[in-house]
Amino acid sequence: MRLILKTKIVIYGGNEMALIVEKFGGASVADTERIKAVADRIAREVKKGNQVVAVVSAQGKTTDGLLHKAEEISAELSDRELDQLLACGEQMSAALCAMALKAKGINAVSLSAWQLGLFTDGVHQNAVPLMLTSSRLRRELEQGRVPVITGFQGIDERGDLTTLGRGGSDTTAVFLAHALSADRCLFFKDVDGVYTADPHTDQAARKLESVSYDTMLSMAQNGARVLHSRSVELAKKYGIRLEVLSGFSENTGTVIE
Ligand code: ASP
Ligand code: MG
Repeated sequence: MRLILKTKIVIYGGNEMALIVEKFGGASVADTERIKAVADRIAREVKKGNQVVAVVSAQGKTTDGLLHKAEEISAELSDRELDQLLACGEQMSAALCAMALKAKGINAVSLSAWQLGLFTDGVHQNAVPLMLTSSRLRRELEQGRVPVITGFQGIDERGDLTTLGRGGSDTTAVFLAHALSADRCLFFKDVDGVYTADPHTDQAARKLESVSYDTMLSMAQNGARVLHSRSVELAKKYGIRLEVLSGFSENTGTVIE
């Protein structure tokens, strides 16, 4: 169900303003320097006249660190409490990114799942996003702010925090791209695209210019960690073209369509 409709804004001179969802993974926001680089990239897009919705993951290995803390407490953990804990990482990086944007003179606001009304089913640790019930995101965009969204998290009908499964921030980005009818959905990763094998370990790995949803899905099922497989399923279902790019270079990436 789509509750937020897109209004195309036409700038004087006839150029259409594009709405771009930009997702930044853990490596892309790993430290202060990286966060500032993310803010620069977003600022460049905003200065071209485009609207950006940023979706961020937790910094570096933050989620693993949180999980480790929980495992020190007990071997039997409640999924609900794990969600409460693991969702903290994305809240940190969203706030830090919004601060970095403001420091560059870009009007930004960090928003978490409950502020967006991003509802999921009630399956803790592996929730599926269902709908966006608030117009907050659209209103922030209309007021010229860059919303920086916590990836990976939602709320269920009880008002409890849920998480979308490890790597689930990708799914947040695709879900929002669909809900907002975004023009583009970009993923900034620690690789500059989709390769035939892991380029970090396999020298023969070749970058693909484009791959189909189905090829990407079977790659994800065979352990390629480029995109959360549910995000590819959602993209296929809604026909959303995904672009995987490097958070560290300006190289051209891989299109999934
Ligand atoms: N921070 C979460 C994880 O490490 C979600 C994500 O990165 O997409 O799994
Ligand atoms: Mg991650």
